Amino acid sequence: MSDLLVMKFGGTSMGSAERMRVAASICTEQKKQRPVVAVVSAMSKVTDLLLDSLRKAEAGDEPGLEFNLRALRQRHQDTCHALLEGGAREETWAALDALLSDFERICQGIRILGERPPRSVDEAVAMGERLSSLLMAAYLRESGTPAQAVDAANVIVTDAVFGNASPLLEETRTRCGEVIQPLIHAGKIPIVTGFNGATVDGHTTTLGRGGSDFSASILAATLNAAELWIWTDVDGIMSADPRSVTDARVLDEVTYAEAAELAYNGAKVLHPRTLAPLVERKIPVWSKNSFNLAHPGTKIVPSRPIESGARAVTSMSNVAMIAIEPDSAAVAGTRIMARALDALSAANAEVLAFSSSSYRQSFCFLVRNDELDTVMKHLEDDLALELAHGYLKPISVDQNVGLLAIVGEGMRGTPGLAGRIFMAVSRQNVNIIAIAQGSSELTISIVVRRDGLERAIRAIHAECQLGTVQAAPAVH
Ligand code: ADP
Ligand code: ASP
Ligand code: MG
Repeated sequence: MSDLLVMKFGGTSMGSAERMRVAASICTEQKKQRPVVAVVSAMSKVTDLLLDSLRKAEAGDEPGLEFNLRALRQRHQDTCHALLEGGAREETWAALDALLSDFERICQGIRILGERPPRSVDEAVAMGERLSSLLMAAYLRESGTPAQAVDAANVIVTDAVFGNASPLLEETRTRCGEVIQPLIHAGKIPIVTGFNGATVDGHTTTLGRGGSDFSASILAATLNAAELWIWTDVDGIMSADPRSVTDARVLDEVTYAEAAELAYNGAKVLHPRTLAPLVERKIPVWSKNSFNLAHPGTKIVPSRPIESGARAVTSMSNVAMIAIEPDSAAVAGTRIMARALDALSAANAEVLAFSSSSYRQSFCFLVRNDELDTVMKHLEDDLALELAHGYLKPISVDQNVGLLAIVGEGMRGTPGLAGRIFMAVSRQNVNIIAIAQGSSELTISIVVRRDGLERAIRAIHAECQLGTVQAAPAVH
């Protein structure tokens, strides 16, 4: 559809009745000009609350579970009351109440079972978005804009990797034709749940934390949208996380490749998988602030004129470094590397950085903390013989590390940049543990001790002059 606008509203943009009113008015305004599909996150912190409730249920913590369930109910009831009146309020509350009861039923099942089967977790945790989409659609209708809540379980078809599912795009395109297109043709705004989908046989799945961005890009790609706007709580993609770096600057334009590198390396403003579905059709994406409508935001485009040097720095602290070192010249280093990579692929884990050197052919790599247990199990199983016979030193794991990534298309061929970055980090007395730079030269990754991470980010940000333009110091 050539003029379709897909818009995604994140947790803070859905965080209260007041925020939902703003989101609804953005939808209504845009709908005057072109067809709109909205994708919504759960209200802020609700997904955390749902997951915590499931953990409490598993642990048999009944008072803790009760407390959470009450908070969940209260938050949605208050929002429903503040947004709606009369029959619409009653009708919507009845639907919310039914969903909340379903969630409570799953929690009780988990409490009795004493474990959290991934399939039940996904069904339960997707409730957050189902609740917010019902509220948003009802409010839009009441304010005169035709809208309908849509559970993405009926639209986004995925594989069966519960907790981190991947979309099946052809099947999803067919469902979009069956479920979303008729609503658009009827002049309605579909308010689709972010974060979830379902397997071909209808079991609800989720796309990973922060996955509503990905839901929106899947829909933008399968509906062939003209644009995707991602509404969040900052003015766009910035030169660093503004929570760490006070003078971080909003970038007016970044390329798909730059945005993807930033997201992959921890910039929470975009889910790492968001851009992949859009590349083929070159659909432009805007990152915008629903708290500051006057700001145009950041445009993410397939390509743009290259500015020399770095553009942004990002970091990740929830990572672990795994080091593998042969202890005998009798083993072929490359073979061990191949086996380790095979184990990582079997564990379905992402390698955030990989570094290798030394005549011993030792190597190390970084994975996310939450994938560490699975990765270690696969590595230890696959390398069991070498470990047992002493050909390999015991595999070492260091969780006290953090990853920094400096990103920019213009870093390619900028001489001296790496040296300046390393100097800036070392001036802060932060030790560099490992370095990796892909051959695309788009990103330099640096592993440092976790307690030096924040200092290192600020030092790199200042050294590369990524921030807001400073007045030149007065010359006396
Ligand atoms: P939403 O709930 O709207 O999806 P998120 O919390 O997932 O929002 O993402 C927005 C947050 O991302 C911002 O509040 C900001 O602190 C953080 N962030 C991290 N790195 C960056 C960056 N480079 N640019 C902008 N925001 C960033
Ligand atoms: N609500 C989900 C989460 O908090 C998905 C999202 O907000 O993008 O992870
Ligand atoms: Mg997010």
